[in-house]
Amino acid sequence: MTTRHLLPDEIDQLLDGEVGFGIAPLEAHVRECAECRAELEAGRRVVDAIEHLPRLAPTPLFTDQVMARVTVYEPWEVAMRDAADRWVSRLVPRSRPLRVVAGAAGITLAAALSVVCVWLGAHLDAVFFFGSMARSRLRAALVEGVGGVIATVFGPQSVDAIRTAGPGLVLGMLATMVVLLLAAGLVVRTAVSSARRGRA
Ligand SMILES: [Zn+2]
Repeated sequence: MTTRHLLPDEIDQLLDGEVGFGIAPLEAHVRECAECRAELEAGRRVVDAIEHLPRLAPTPLFTDQVMARVTVYEPWEVAMRDAADRWVSRLVPRSRPLRVVAGAAGITLAAALSVVCVWLGAHLDAVFFFGSMARSRLRAALVEGVGGVIATVFGPQSVDAIRTAGPGLVLGMLATMVVLLLAAGLVVRTAVSSARRGRA
């Protein structure tokens, strides 16, 4: 017989009608100890009362009503990772051969785009009869608009290069940046999925 009084979870085990090696000493204690017997009886009354409660069927809207009052907190890094994940999984095919094809197609497209941009930059005057006024205005607008981004990615000298070079170079740089961003997305996705595998 257990010499000390029963712990709450031991009372619960008796209330649940559990069987097993540890139950006999608990039952022996309850037979001898009025205090624990009273505790067990009180617990049994509670269980009976709960079992005789009318069955509750919440309305179908119950969950919505509760959740409408609950603020679900999502940490920004989780939200960002999920958003990046959704974007990349929309862009990147699931099967490996398709991924290789898509990657090759993307690189080819970017290269072609760059070539077209550089050619356009060199021949822009001839193709569109751009006056020197229009071109310098376009260049100034580009430097103003994306100069900061380009300086961050390619270094401050590149902005000077834009001032002297044609807009094709700028467009080529932008195309390169898009490819870099897509590659970064792929790296993030790979890291996220391998982290998930590591956790599982
Ligand atoms: Zn006792």
